[in-house]
Amino acid sequence: MRKTELQRFRKLLLEEKERVTQSLAQHEKIIMHTDDQSGLETGKAHSNHMADQGSDEFQYETTIKFAKTEGRYLYNIEEALRRIEDGTYGNCQECTRAIALPRLRRLPYTRLCIECKEKEEAGTI
Ligand SMILES: [Zn+2]
Repeated sequence: MRKTELQRFRKLLLEEKERVTQSLAQHEKIIMHTDDQSGLETGKAHSNHMADQGSDEFQYETTIKFAKTEGRYLYNIEEALRRIEDGTYGNCQECTRAIALPRLRRLPYTRLCIECKEKEEAGTI
């Protein structure tokens, strides 16, 4: 891969990392806030606020689920940045061939070429 191309992906990944990090921090705040509330409410007002409690729990669950997905995404971004540093970025981690540029542009954090990705999804590697 050309160096200018590599720099462009690096910038893209760094920006994405920043965005995801901030989004995760916000979700952590929501999760902690929800924890605080359930602590404060222990033993009182529960029966009066069943509906609120339910929606809080729903929000908590979706937030946690979202945070997990974002966390995995962040990990993938960090791994891609690490590969840029060690010079293996853009090569498939499975067959070591170069990943097609349009695929990288769509998924800059991908570690597999399309063929290996399909094999992985089919469970053959
Ligand atoms: Zn491959």
